Amino acid sequence: MNIAVYPGTFDPFTNGHKDLVQRASSNIFDKVYICVAENSKKDTLFSLSERIHLAEKSLHEIKNIEVIGFSGLLVDFAEKLNAKVILRGLRVVSDFEYEFQMSSMNKKLNNNIESIFLTPSESYAFLSSSLVKEIAELGGDISKFVNPEVRAALEKKYK
Ligand code: ADP
Repeated sequence: MNIAVYPGTFDPFTNGHKDLVQRASSNIFDKVYICVAENSKKDTLFSLSERIHLAEKSLHEIKNIEVIGFSGLLVDFAEKLNAKVILRGLRVVSDFEYEFQMSSMNKKLNNNIESIFLTPSESYAFLSSSLVKEIAELGGDISKFVNPEVRAALEKKYK
């Protein structure tokens, strides 16, 4: 089985994240684990369980995926899941430096796991969780960018 982990903060899960999971799960991998990071350096708006729940809701129609929370080293977690690939998204040039650093470090930690990068459909190339939060906080329409459950959760947070 060809298994990938797709790690991230997913605060919250967006249609850009979903676009990547769809590409990966339908064309490339037999199974994709969406790994929601608990101990992120970032201060999150949503708790770990909320982030997991919203990712699950956003991906409900995709069969060969599973959403799980994790803490600790990603390469160790990937190994436990028998995943040979870490999947990440590359949107714009500014993503590159950080992603390059992370993948080099992960390779040093475990040389058996490869990082693979996918680009989203053009319409999501500008989309990020932080931008969605900003728009939601200002009362803007985010329905094109997130699942209805995520939108409702954001509206509740910023009410
Ligand atoms: P992190 O804090 O680990 O960067 P994110 O939830 O922001 O977590 O992103 C998880 C992964 O999804 C990253 O690889 C990021 O580049 C990718 N990603 C985020 N938004 C998009 C998008 N609109 N299109 C494609 N990839 C994306």
